[in-house]
Amino acid sequence: MRIANIAGRIHLVREVGVLDIAKASDGRFPADPAGIYALWPALSEWAADQPDQAFSPAPDVAEFEAPSPQPRQVFTLGTNYRRHAVELGWPIPEVPMVFTKFPTSVAGPNARVGITGPRVDWEVELVVVIGTGGHRLSAEDAWSAVAGFTVGQDVSDRDVQRRPESNPQFGLGKSFPGFSPTGPVVVSLDEVGDPHDLGMRCWVNGELMQDGRSDDLVFSIPFLIEYLSGVVTLCPGDLIFTGTPSGVGSSRRPPRFLSPGDEVRSWIENIGEMTTRFVERP
Ligand code: ZN
Repeated sequence: MRIANIAGRIHLVREVGVLDIAKASDGRFPADPAGIYALWPALSEWAADQPDQAFSPAPDVAEFEAPSPQPRQVFTLGTNYRRHAVELGWPIPEVPMVFTKFPTSVAGPNARVGITGPRVDWEVELVVVIGTGGHRLSAEDAWSAVAGFTVGQDVSDRDVQRRPESNPQFGLGKSFPGFSPTGPVVVSLDEVGDPHDLGMRCWVNGELMQDGRSDDLVFSIPFLIEYLSGVVTLCPGDLIFTGTPSGVGSSRRPPRFLSPGDEVRSWIENIGEMTTRFVERP
């Protein structure tokens, strides 16, 4: 199953087009994305019965919004790709390096993001969207708590993130408005293929900057769900940014950063792509 938030209403998405879930279900499921993730198992069953003929042509990509626009929690993993740890010159972590992106930073797949300083960087990431969620989930049960996967950009202001060096502020440096673009669809586990073997790419103004695969992940997604939910209750619609492959701007020689006018295209195999436009800060 694929779903998208189109102009504030959750839709099923297929090759033939889109279907407004609240209308087609006579209100059994809500239109509001905030209410859909807790109902994921029932939604999956219902969706399988909907005929292609009920779908209408997909609207322009400009109408797609963040699939989970107001998650209660947004988790991020640092150095969770081996080659990214190597490019940073950091050790491969023995326990997950977890921090937060504050939820007000979440944006959709057509975000326009203000440049906040001279060292704003890109990080394409596979994002897990929590379905029913829960507390103290085992790795074996983890997938049943998940809705699916979307494309994310963990935009980072490296100056804010690494100031001071002795006590870095990851959460602040990654939480300016629009610094967490997501979309354009959420793809369920049964349609995404092997989530630990997906191609991931990021282009800046058409130039390929990141070209990795999720098989380079240090900690698997079920392990991360067990680890996080061992502390925090995972809520429907929560997002987990699972880390970025190598090729970020701050690790390039010479380093590269984003400026107003730049376009960042983020793609993940079997999910899709989104374009984030960087502008002067309003
Ligand atoms: Zn990241």
